[in-house]
Order: sequence, then C-alpha cells, then structure tokens
Amino acid sequence: MFRAILVEKSESGQSVRVAEVDEASLPVGDVLVRVERSTVNYKDALAITGKGPVIRKFPMIPGIDGAGVVAESAHASFRPGDRVLVNGYGVGEGHWGCLAGAARLDGNWLVPVPSNFTTTQAMAIGTAGYTAMLCVMALQRHGVAPGKGDVLVTGAAGGVGSVAIALLAGLGYRVVASTGRASEAPYLTALGAAEVLDRATLAAPGKPMQKERWAGVVDSVGSQTLANACASTRYGGTVAACGLAGGMDFPATVAPFILRGVTLAGVDSVMAPMALRREAWQRLSRELDTGKLAAMTREIPLAEAIPLAGELLAGRVRGRVVVDVTR
Ligand code: NDP
Repeated sequence: MFRAILVEKSESGQSVRVAEVDEASLPVGDVLVRVERSTVNYKDALAITGKGPVIRKFPMIPGIDGAGVVAESAHASFRPGDRVLVNGYGVGEGHWGCLAGAARLDGNWLVPVPSNFTTTQAMAIGTAGYTAMLCVMALQRHGVAPGKGDVLVTGAAGGVGSVAIALLAGLGYRVVASTGRASEAPYLTALGAAEVLDRATLAAPGKPMQKERWAGVVDSVGSQTLANACASTRYGGTVAACGLAGGMDFPATVAPFILRGVTLAGVDSVMAPMALRREAWQRLSRELDTGKLAAMTREIPLAEAIPLAGELLAGRVRGRVVVDVTR
C-alpha cells in the first residue's frame, strides 16, 4: 500500500482526498518508482480543483511530475536504485501520477536525475522550471543573445517566471519582470530581474504595433499579455509562449510577425522529444543557481497539496512548491 492524492468523480461531482492505494492497482508500466518528491504545478492545481479539464479518466492520482528511486525495472536503461524523474507524457492526466508514494511508469518517459541534484532540487525545478529552460533554449535557437536587448518575463513571481528570471540573469541577459504583485519586487530583483513592471501595463487591449522594447519574451500568461508582448517585441525578436495563466485566447494581429519579423515560438513540455528534455535537464544542472532555486522554493507534506491547489490558481503562491510525498 502507498499514500496518494486521489481524485474521484461521482454524480455529485469531483472529490479529492489522501487515500491508501494498493500497489497492485497501479497502471501498467515497465518501471516501478518509489516517488520521493513531487510538486504542485499549474496543471496539477487545475486537476486537483477540477477547474480545468486536465484529468482524462477517473479515479486519477494527479502529479504531472515526480522524482524518486527505481524499485523494479524491466526497461533496459534503468535498474533498481537509479534516481529518475518524469515530466508530462500524460502522467497525472491519463496515467496515474506522482502525488503518491509510488508510480508505475513507462521507462521511455524517464530522465536520470542529474548527479549534482537531490530529488528535492529536481522537483523544485519540476515541470515549471524545465519549461522555463525550454523557453530559454527557444530564445537562443532564434538568436536572442544577451547583448541584443531586454528580455521580458511575464507571470514573473510564478514557477515558470521565477526559474526563467534566474536562468536568464545567470546567462547575462537584462531581465524585465512583469508581475501583479508589487510586493514581490525585492524577491524578483534578488532572482536577477533588473526592472519590475506592473502587469496591468500589459493586460489592457493595445495597438497592433507598439514601441519596440523586447529582444525576447518568456510568456506564461497568454491572452492580452501575449498579444501586447508580441506587439512590443523588437525587429527580429522572439516570443516564447508557454502558458495561459491569464487566459487561453490570443487577441492579436499578424502585424508584428509580418512587419517586424517577430517569431512566436510555442513551447510544450509534455510531449517534448527525449533529446530536448535531457539537454534541458543537463543545462539546468549546470546553469541554474541552486541558491536562487532554494530561495524560490518551499516544501509541504502530501496532504497540503490539496489546499495549495486553490491558492496557486488564485495567484497567491510564489515561486515553486515541492511536495514531500513521504510525509
Ligand atoms: P504559477 O501559478 O506558479 O504562475 C503563474 C503566474 O502567472 C502567477 O504567479 C502570476 O504571476 C501570473 N498570473 C496569474 N493569473 C494571472 C492573470 N489572470 N493575469 C496575468 N497574470 C497572471 O504557474 P506556473 O508558473 O507553474 O505556470 C504558468 C503557466 O505556464 C500556466 O498557464 C501553465 O499551465 C503553463 N505551463 C505550460 C507548460 C507547457 O508545457 N507549455 C509547462 C508548465 C507550465 P504574478 O503574480 O507575478 O503576476
């Protein structure tokens, strides 16, 4: 038996609780992982609260990411005792996830935990931080270099935003952080932001072409914010779009793309190819300041992930939250 967060559905609606689950009921998979740490990502919060259609079958153990130790393996690349992590692939959506003491997973989904990271650090990064790295890599692939101008990070005090700021500042970029929480300015500056912007300035409908400001953008907000970010990106710049914290819509025009050669680079972490994942995790292990990572992270026991989900969707959680599934 192991402890897990279990989301169930009945005629009266969705319910969530901490349950004792029989290991025999785990789904098929060639690797059994003793999960040590998981996290609460935006998508987990949608799954736990039922506020977004994340869960594709019930009952479901949420948790789109986790890190732990291999207990059993029929996969050629993994042996008992190996430290592994997983992000995405439908884990916590269609396949039982990692807000649990155990997970049975497809070995092809697993990435070794970088040797200099604990499983806690791996999950302090989690899907949000790994997605931030995918965004940085997308900007670099499109030629956004540190000397080329300011990089805007939206949803700055959230998980993706916090890690993106630390990574970009560490690489020498001048980062402008957009936040709705003015009180978090000292936190954002400590992560490496050179300037803090009130997110309201990006939230109202704006002109299709605005003053050229950004060499690059990491956007986790979407909607009007993404449209304004594109409209104020400099000639030849790139906007990495990964999130929808402000909305799923994109009320924009093609003007920045066809008149300024702006690139809109979509970033997906869930089905990202394995080579890209491994590169992202290796780069995180070399380039992310672990002092800054610790400063943006707090740890909670399993049961607290349930109330935290609502807090996260309300935009009241700063940085990253690791879940110690053993407590
Ligand atoms: P968090 O909840 O940690 O951060 C989101 C941040 O967005 C908040 O902290 C807040 O920042 C800002 N925000 C929240 N609501 C609004 C709003 N209504 N308008 C404008 N800004 C808002 O989430 P994550 O960082 O984990 O994820 C961010 C987004 O990225 C989510 O939409 C998530 O689904 C997506 N995502 C996508 C992935 C992919 O594969 N493409 C992978 C991981 C995440 P502040 O208070 O500073 O303004």
